[in-house]
Amino acid sequence: MSDRLRVLATRAAALLSTTVLVAAGTAILAAPTAQAAQGNSGAAAASCTATQVVANGGFESGTTPWTTSSGVITSGGGQSAHGGTSFAWLDGYGSAHTDSLTQSVTLPAGCTSASLSFWLHVDTAETTKTTAYDKLTAKIGTTTLATYSNLDAAAGYVKKTFDVSAYAGQTVSISFNGVEDSGLQTSFVLDDVALDVSGGGTTPPPNDATRTPAPTGYTVNLTSDANGANWSGHQTIGFTNPSATPLTEVYLRLWDNYHGSCPTTPITVSNLTGGTTAPLTVGCTALKVTLPAPLAQGASGSVGFDLSIAVPSGADRFGRDGAFAFIGNALPVLAVRDAAGWHLDPYTNNGESFYTLASDYTVTLDHPSSLLVPATGTSVDTPGSSGRTVTTATAKNVREFAWAAGPFSKISGTSSTGVAVNVYSVSGISSSSAQSMLTTAKSAVDSHAARFGAYPYGELDAVIDNNFWFGGMEYPGFVLDLVSTTALTHEIGHQWWYGIVGDDEYNSPWLDEAFTDYATDLALGSTGTNCWSSVSWASSAEKITNSMAYWDANSSRYSTVIYNYGKCALHDLRRTIGDAAMTTLLHDYAAAHWYGVSTTAEFKAAAQAATTVDLTSFWTQHRIEG
Ligand SMILES: [Zn+2]
Repeated sequence: MSDRLRVLATRAAALLSTTVLVAAGTAILAAPTAQAAQGNSGAAAASCTATQVVANGGFESGTTPWTTSSGVITSGGGQSAHGGTSFAWLDGYGSAHTDSLTQSVTLPAGCTSASLSFWLHVDTAETTKTTAYDKLTAKIGTTTLATYSNLDAAAGYVKKTFDVSAYAGQTVSISFNGVEDSGLQTSFVLDDVALDVSGGGTTPPPNDATRTPAPTGYTVNLTSDANGANWSGHQTIGFTNPSATPLTEVYLRLWDNYHGSCPTTPITVSNLTGGTTAPLTVGCTALKVTLPAPLAQGASGSVGFDLSIAVPSGADRFGRDGAFAFIGNALPVLAVRDAAGWHLDPYTNNGESFYTLASDYTVTLDHPSSLLVPATGTSVDTPGSSGRTVTTATAKNVREFAWAAGPFSKISGTSSTGVAVNVYSVSGISSSSAQSMLTTAKSAVDSHAARFGAYPYGELDAVIDNNFWFGGMEYPGFVLDLVSTTALTHEIGHQWWYGIVGDDEYNSPWLDEAFTDYATDLALGSTGTNCWSSVSWASSAEKITNSMAYWDANSSRYSTVIYNYGKCALHDLRRTIGDAAMTTLLHDYAAAHWYGVSTTAEFKAAAQAATTVDLTSFWTQHRIEG
């Protein structure tokens, strides 16, 4: 995603979102004895079932098991819920008052990742902009996660997220304590408290870093309603197990269920064949499928299922802006197991959580002939039933498949190196803006290709809408964008950094965003001179290589550090090793990871191999760890 309008975007998303991360009442609390056994298991990794461990986090099921001061869990009274009808309301009396809200939770020992989140609304009668009179403290155990005050007052709810992975295997309290002074009222309103655990897993053993399952093809047939807002049909996914460790299950990621109110979801998978499904986990975004028998190394399997997609309203990467539907991340994709176990990270709306292996896609989209459907891959239209068209899109070696549907205006051209570029504009985009974006797209694809290797996907679609709350969003061969030269050049840069050279976007977001912003600078002639001189770290914990768990908890720093410090670090690396060495490094690094996955450690090793300068202090100074 592009960082343009990042601050506005985050605020707008928080205000507009009605997402409930995880439904209340889904807690599965492991027995203490099981915890002890897992914690002492030694050589074999303990198992982790990705789940959510806060009970009644939405406050819709009475007060149990929360411990509270009087009248905290309530509904109405001038405040409203984030999801459902009830919420927790601390303080708001306008007199000296303390309210508390506590629950004890157990984090399974085998889970290596844990994320605590809640939605917070603060309103106040205080008028000061400088003094925190009334305060809310959020803690896990004895550790203070954050303190909020009347100075945080704002319309609507804001989601707060904290990485609490350090508490894996422990039973610990989550507590909120609100202290109000004798002056004007401040209300701290909480809802949808969740603690998602994931990671770990029973397999593979530490030495087996092979990424699995390796998809061998996604085949999808979907039919839309009259306006392209609802799609239904069937999907199959073939895969093999390249790992020496047998594959006993696979996970489907239903990423767009973040945009629903779990367990009510916009993506529905049913009638699955090829395995046995478990209930959805990780905010309804993960579906575990236990295979009929363990898949040995080199063996193949497949799953098939009926799929329905209901695109919600909103100019978003999965949303509808009037007559136009944007459908990113809607097709279920296989999660990855590697040396860290299964990657079942939560969805992030501040960036991307997506980590997938490249595969071939064949997708047929049966839609009214009045709608155009720009999509990943190259498309061929054939007549369907009366008034309908069947668009068949094929794509090789892509990480996902996205499309849009609507009465777009389409213009096309060919770049100097022969890439077919299509610009699809929603109503309200002038023809001169569309022409300008076509010129930008043609120039950008050739500029990036000259540095990092020829664009392999044949066709590139840019879908332009100025109502997006973000600058742009990247998908293979398909980008969403505002009318913005910088944002469009950035999203097209992602075709190489994220698309062709993949990465774990949740755990290493800098590998796609910083590299893409650096590529954007190069394409637009910016040299980043002196840009490192403005770097000012917020804390000792802040690093360019931090994961989205950190950035979701420190969202105001995400754009600054990941995009700006990240690209400036790469400009500095170029100045350190020399222009020619940097040019060769990135070109050869892309070639070595073409359709594969990049890691920070591999990039650092490649950079070190490209120069006689010892880069040890460079990585330390630029906080690039791993
Ligand atoms: Zn980006």
